[in-house]
Amino acid sequence: MNKGRFIAGAVCPQCKEVDKLKMHKEEGEDIRECVRCGYRDVQRFDQQKTEPTTRVNKSRSEREAEEQPVQIKFIP
Ligand SMILES: [Zn+2]
Repeated sequence: MNKGRFIAGAVCPQCKEVDKLKMHKEEGEDIRECVRCGYRDVQRFDQQKTEPTTRVNKSRSEREAEEQPVQIKFIP
């Protein structure tokens, strides 16, 4: 697939290459895709909007619970 545009300075979280990530929009979602290794992830706009931007004075366990990475895998 050859649509979207490259994200300047973006680093692929999988292969660590710079400037290989492209982004395009699909049905209200941001799709990021690495042209080198095929890494792909999706971010929904509504989640981005509601995501808290500040983290203040929480206990360690609360912070750890929040910081669990979310991985979305695509199985072809
Ligand atoms: Zn990659």
